[in-house]
Amino acid sequence: MSVARPQELACKQLVELLTDFLDGALDESTRTRVEQHLVWCPGCTEYLRQFRATIGVTRKLAEEDLPERVKENLLDAFRHWRHGS
Ligand SMILES: [Zn+2]
Repeated sequence: MSVARPQELACKQLVELLTDFLDGALDESTRTRVEQHLVWCPGCTEYLRQFRATIGVTRKLAEEDLPERVKENLLDAFRHWRHGS
């Protein structure tokens, strides 16, 4: 699309709004503009998809995998310490 549409969000602006968008922190008119931008902008749609995937992985690590792994490492260290090896 070659015609400039100043009332619509630029990609750079949209990227800055994405965190709030995913948190549901935007007011309704801003959220609508983000959604409208995503309809015609495949680049930002792809960015949003990757952004969501990254957040999902980070949350999963923080809530599940990481504490379990840390706990195992601590138990491991404790066992080695007790056996004096
Ligand atoms: Zn865009």
